[in-house]
Amino acid sequence: MKNFQIAIIGGGVVGSAIAWELSRYKVNVAVFEKGSDVASGASKANSGVIHSGINSTPSSLKAKYCVEGNKLFQSIADELHFPVRWVGKFVIAKDEEEVKELKHLQEIGKKNNVQNLEIQDGSHVQKKEKNVCCHAALWVPGAGITEPYKFTIALAENAAENKVSFFLETEVKGMRKEKDFFKLQTNNGSFQAQITINAAGIHCREIVGMVEEPDFQVYPCRGEYLVLDKNYASLIASMIYPVPVKEMGVLGVHLTPTIDGNILLGPSAEFINDVEDKKTTKETMKTLFAEAKDIIPILPERAVINAYAGIRCKLASPSKGGWADYRIEQSEITPGLINLLGIESPGLTAAPALAKDIVRMIGESIPLKTKEKVKHSIKRTRFVDLPQEEQSQLIAQDERWGRIVCRCEHITEKEIIDALANPLGAKTISAVKYRCRAGMGRCQGGFCTQHIVRIMEEQCRMDIHDIKLRSPRSTLFYNRTREAKHGR
Ligand SMILES: Cc1cc2nc3c(=O)[nH]c(=O)nc-3n(C[C@H](O)[C@H](O)[C@H](O)COP(=O)(O)OP(=O)(O)OC[C@H]3O[C@@H](n4cnc5c(N)ncnc54)[C@H](O)[C@@H]3O)c2cc1C
Repeated sequence: MKNFQIAIIGGGVVGSAIAWELSRYKVNVAVFEKGSDVASGASKANSGVIHSGINSTPSSLKAKYCVEGNKLFQSIADELHFPVRWVGKFVIAKDEEEVKELKHLQEIGKKNNVQNLEIQDGSHVQKKEKNVCCHAALWVPGAGITEPYKFTIALAENAAENKVSFFLETEVKGMRKEKDFFKLQTNNGSFQAQITINAAGIHCREIVGMVEEPDFQVYPCRGEYLVLDKNYASLIASMIYPVPVKEMGVLGVHLTPTIDGNILLGPSAEFINDVEDKKTTKETMKTLFAEAKDIIPILPERAVINAYAGIRCKLASPSKGGWADYRIEQSEITPGLINLLGIESPGLTAAPALAKDIVRMIGESIPLKTKEKVKHSIKRTRFVDLPQEEQSQLIAQDERWGRIVCRCEHITEKEIIDALANPLGAKTISAVKYRCRAGMGRCQGGFCTQHIVRIMEEQCRMDIHDIKLRSPRSTLFYNRTREAKHGR
């Protein structure tokens, strides 16, 4: 049985942010993640928006952590080398009636201390966004974009480099409180911890249910997206949102530029029964496209290259309007259990601020002494972004820099090997994709997947039967149909 002072259940952005904050202190921390990598849940499948705070009810925890998190983002990005762009957002009104909603959002923003909000008329908006058709819009300059999975990976990898233990493919299946410690049963053995942090996202109720009767329900709400090819990046410069959909407690189908030049259309909002049901559906895709076309009439259907879905963790049912505040609390029934419940949007934005508060809570029961030294995170080299001279130098040092494996994104063999050498030990095709973008281009891995598999086999000495696409169950190869001639 392995002993830790703190066990974090869930390696999403929240669990990883808490792990990263804790990695600055002399404490013994473990993160248990049932997926094959961190960011296996909602933290991978969202809009990647760093919200400003215009949508969160004033005085709510959502508003507090969103505004505080937004302020922390740039400095963490500089420290951990993940990308952030402050592209700003327009919330557009189609008519005078919707302008009332813009004014309402502006008021909320002011109460939450969001700066420089401005209502502009349609012709003004078109000077910046020539393809957007609207009557007026609220300009929110403090909203930005990031790559949500890169953010989560950066937090987790730096935490691991600073001695936080990550247990991937390790599901907490049971938990018991015994005197002053927890016993956690997983598929990879038993563990002991003084404090347990429930950061299990949509599964937060199951974790509570292991030790006490939960006093809340979770209402999963699926959000589907369409992804546009990078060739259409110039369609928008900032994020374009409609006025929020009040009845569902969501923000409505918006257009969001991504860091790498794709545009996201979505998300839809559909309450579902199965928390794992991340399917994308033809009907929703059609609706998403039609709603986006309402905003940008020249949007071509051929621009769509992919679709995905994420599940919102809602604590309010659709009949109650779908809106509930976060619950961040130490259990009164089970001392030592800290629950983060209902961490739906703006959870990505809020994560850095939430983490700081959780560490403060932990500090009330475990003395936290800062480490004298912490390891800084190492920036991954993106070959295609380097000047030619530096590219040539790298190829001269190691010829694998000169072999392009992913043609769409121009990713080299060396970048794939570096991605596989990550400090978390994540070794799936997705782990490669989310670290260096191989497979994220127009062909969506159609060309490069076979080459990545070869690199995993030959250079990383992985057994082909162990190579998985993204999750513990997504085995890619069962048997060879014939033996290769040259030992492969
Ligand atoms: C469609 C959509 C759009 C969104 N857009 C935005 C946005 O633009 N901006 C923003 O700020 N927020 C956004 N959000 C919200 C944001 O994505 C979430 O709030 C955030 O990702 C929640 O992080 P988490 O770590 O709590 O949950 P998750 O990322 O779901 O992580 C929980 C982890 O726990 C693991 N786990 C669960 N049970 C166990 C167990 N028993 N043992 C071990 N591991 C376990 C899971 O595998 C998972 O990896 C959006 C959410 C959705 C769904």
